Amino acid sequence: MIEVNRKGEVWVFAEQEAGHLSEVPLELLSKGRELADQLGVPLAAVLVGSKVRPLCATLAQHGADLIYLAEDGVLTHYQTASYTRVVCDLITAYKPQICLFGATAIGRDLAPTVASAMKCGLTADCTDLQIGDHTDPQTKEHIAKLLLQIRPAFGGNIIATIVNPHRWPQMATVREGVMRMTVAEAGRTGKTIKFPVNLAGLDLPTEVVESQRRAKKVNLKGARIIVAGGAGVGSRDAFRLIWDLANILGGAVGGSRAAVDLGYVDHDHQVGQTGTTVRPALYICCGVSGAVQHRAGMQESAKILAINIDKDAPIFGVAHYGIVGDLNEVIPRMIKSIRSGASLSDAVTGASKA
Ligand SMILES: Cc1cc2nc3c(=O)[nH]c(=O)nc-3n(C[C@H](O)[C@H](O)[C@H](O)COP(=O)(O)OP(=O)(O)OC[C@H]3O[C@@H](n4cnc5c(N)ncnc54)[C@H](O)[C@@H]3O)c2cc1C
Repeated sequence: MIEVNRKGEVWVFAEQEAGHLSEVPLELLSKGRELADQLGVPLAAVLVGSKVRPLCATLAQHGADLIYLAEDGVLTHYQTASYTRVVCDLITAYKPQICLFGATAIGRDLAPTVASAMKCGLTADCTDLQIGDHTDPQTKEHIAKLLLQIRPAFGGNIIATIVNPHRWPQMATVREGVMRMTVAEAGRTGKTIKFPVNLAGLDLPTEVVESQRRAKKVNLKGARIIVAGGAGVGSRDAFRLIWDLANILGGAVGGSRAAVDLGYVDHDHQVGQTGTTVRPALYICCGVSGAVQHRAGMQESAKILAINIDKDAPIFGVAHYGIVGDLNEVIPRMIKSIRSGASLSDAVTGASKA
């Protein structure tokens, strides 16, 4: 734990692998910029790895005023002990007030380990972060400008706002795609501060001999059109309909968690709270009930078309267009119309009237 430091910076852990930044730190820098400006403090990126200095320019262009660079050959591969030690040493030395991590495989491992070592709090999977005041309901103590860590709780039934007034730094993880990434500002520069790395013994308990990474099979975040299927599709074979509609529209295939759990589609395709957060131009969901955890990942799509047999399905509450009907009849009619040259809107109108 560090003392409460109101002049402390806002930090973003700049996760990288093999010299490639993931998108989530750039998204977090966009949000971090807002938070730092409200607090009137610098925004810093924490870059740990080996031969990663070239990434400093990208981090500065995405809003970092400072980049703390911890470079060493032993940091080539992420390892819990070594990365935790470096991040904790940095926190102890510079006393930031806020530390943000991506809720990636690495972030979900590193952030709680750092929080535990620093004896401070951590809110996982935040869906929003704001700066705001807090009055303790019991002591009536009023504390200004805390990090409000906002996330669904109790199975998504309430939205909780969590504050950490006394045990700093205030730490949170955010899933990829939740925060919007602003456009890089060409020519923007930041100051790089080299941080010495002195790791030995228990900081390096394992040697990584080889690492292999499986690329994601689908880029849901980049898709302009997503056709998603849920448990209502009925089987992996029937899911072919979802693929066919996506293919004819040049879109990507998404799925609800139920569809993934039932084996209709692979986990890479899952949309929602524990899947990918998407904002395509068009999201077509078929046989998806619209549980809050699914909606959390798709409700900011520009246009949503829902196809569901149940007119009371919650998905219709967020859909711009809805077809109440059996997807096994509606989707083939849509595909047939599009194949015969109809526009998507005519195909939807035709399919809903039939
Ligand atoms: C911590 C936590 C995290 C979660 N994360 C996610 C997540 O990331 N993503 C996610 O999706 N879920 C997530 N869930 C699960 C979520 O709560 C729901 O269980 C899930 O979204 C339901 O999937 P579904 O809508 O496909 O299935 P169901 O709820 O079973 O709905 C199926 C729908 O299909 C309709 N239907 C049935 N037959 C047809 C037909 N022939 N034609 C048209 N419609 C038909 C039904 O009317 C129904 O509305 C999470 C849950 C928890 C607790």
